[in-house]
Amino acid sequence: MRQRCRRRLAETGLRAVDLHELCAEFGSRRARPVVLSSMTMPSNNIHAMLVRASEADYIVYERDTTPLHQQHLIAHELGHLIWDHRGLTGLSGGHADYDPVEELEAETTATLLLERQHRTLAGLARSERTRTMGQALGFEFGRW
Ligand SMILES: [Zn+2]
Repeated sequence: MRQRCRRRLAETGLRAVDLHELCAEFGSRRARPVVLSSMTMPSNNIHAMLVRASEADYIVYERDTTPLHQQHLIAHELGHLIWDHRGLTGLSGGHADYDPVEELEAETTATLLLERQHRTLAGLARSERTRTMGQALGFEFGRW
């Protein structure tokens, strides 16, 4: 499944790393915007949903949760979009009417997107830390 999702992501040609930028990039590539919107979800079981309207796709996600959870919710729904799933059944958690294969595709794609974001951010943090440490020691990094 990871291989399948990795191939699919490669096919999209998406370059952005940040999830909000990824949504914007995906939207502009298809000439069909992806609109992110947070709201207080009325149900304890539903944390996000994908609404495929005529002009745009809406990813609606829980406002009252941690930023980390929100990232996961957005990545999952974007995963559904990348696979061109129908939406509105794309509810994260607790819904009866869902296709387990589609959920697995969305979730695995989400994991890949989040892993890539995490790797990139960790890399940036590391290089920032190295620079700061170097400066403290009197080195100038980036000029060899
Ligand atoms: Zn889902």
